Amino acid sequence: MWRTVAVRALRGAGAGGPRTASGAAAAQLRRRLESELEDIRGAGTWKSERVIASRQGPHLQLAGGGGGIINFCANNYLGLSSHPEVIRAAVEALEKFGAGLSSVRFICGTQSIHKDLEEKIARFHQREDAILYASCFDANAGIFEALLTPEDAVLSDELNHASIIDGIRLCKANKYRYKHMDMQDLEAKLQEAQKHRLRLVATDGAFSMDGDIAPLREICQLAQKYDALVFIDECHATGFLGPNGRGTDELLGVVDKVTIINSTLGKALGGAAGGYTTGPKPLIDLLRQRSRPYLFSNSLPPAVVGCASKALDLLMESNAIAQSMAAKTQRFRSKMTAAGFTISGKDHPICPVMLGDARLASVMAEDMLSRGIYVIGFSYPVVPKGKARIRVQISAVHSDEDIDRCVEAFTEVGRKHGALP
Ligand code: PLP
Repeated sequence: MWRTVAVRALRGAGAGGPRTASGAAAAQLRRRLESELEDIRGAGTWKSERVIASRQGPHLQLAGGGGGIINFCANNYLGLSSHPEVIRAAVEALEKFGAGLSSVRFICGTQSIHKDLEEKIARFHQREDAILYASCFDANAGIFEALLTPEDAVLSDELNHASIIDGIRLCKANKYRYKHMDMQDLEAKLQEAQKHRLRLVATDGAFSMDGDIAPLREICQLAQKYDALVFIDECHATGFLGPNGRGTDELLGVVDKVTIINSTLGKALGGAAGGYTTGPKPLIDLLRQRSRPYLFSNSLPPAVVGCASKALDLLMESNAIAQSMAAKTQRFRSKMTAAGFTISGKDHPICPVMLGDARLASVMAEDMLSRGIYVIGFSYPVVPKGKARIRVQISAVHSDEDIDRCVEAFTEVGRKHGALP
């Protein structure tokens, strides 16, 4: 009897189709989830995903036929995600070292390429040592808990990335949040935090929603005055900010004042995946012993290691790619400003076109896509209310013509929707 029922249930679902769990709890869960999803749709904050049918790059083919799209919304700042040498390095690493390690690092998951990449990252940033993670999200989740105790304090910019916020939540240190890039407020919080054993100031090097760069010189001066350490998240800086692309600390001349850097291999450095911490050797040694996302998660796959390693080689050979991105950024920012738009931030390839109204940002982004320009509108709760924008990200592999087409499309669409006179 039960066999017949089971066979019918299976047939009902279609061979290999989804099985639906039955029972009151499952039904209640489904109702609750559907209502929550409806709330998200109702609030206008639903995130849908466009499906790309080609490699990541300045020109995309979208699934379902949309070809020839110029892409201005990837973090592919240096265009290395589809660089032939990066791809070749991944294939070679895959063939030589296999698909993956099926192990965490400390059991049976460390290959020579992992050690080589860690050494290369430390050299790139002029730090003593480095440790790899599956992502920078993991690096941020792992560092604060391993480093700070209830005797210590962490002071965090209120607009820091979600992964820093989550990492800080996981630690037992005393938490202080200072106003975005507000040095007076940071100083007040540092004074309050003098009672603790150790103080760590944590900030994004470059903030991804506004394209603004943390005032690291001032932060480091305050850190020196109040005997604090400085941590920066360089996801939107590594590879392209500063004369040699080393990041915000190089750009602002404070390489020897920043103690800890976390960054990603999933943006400018090849774009595959992975993250890291680089800094003093005893810190890195401690993270290998105590950092939970490192200890309890699989090693980075060899192909991913191969990509990042080659990306770093290319950057250490020459600063030409980083420089070409800076020139393109300058072209976009100055042409858009001349056209009458307000672009937030300064000298950063994240160029938020400030529009204010959420609906305007959304319809303009849709209209841009219909003209072959792929950009994304951001509104509350991702950015503050009344500060909706379209975020444009420039890459070294955009041609001048790509950039000019984007500015022309913005000008037409802006006039059509009343964002420009
Ligand atoms: N930190 C910042 C500032 C980021 O923008 C991101 C990614 O969006 C991360 C951390 C997480 O990086 P990953 O994609 O390597 O997890």
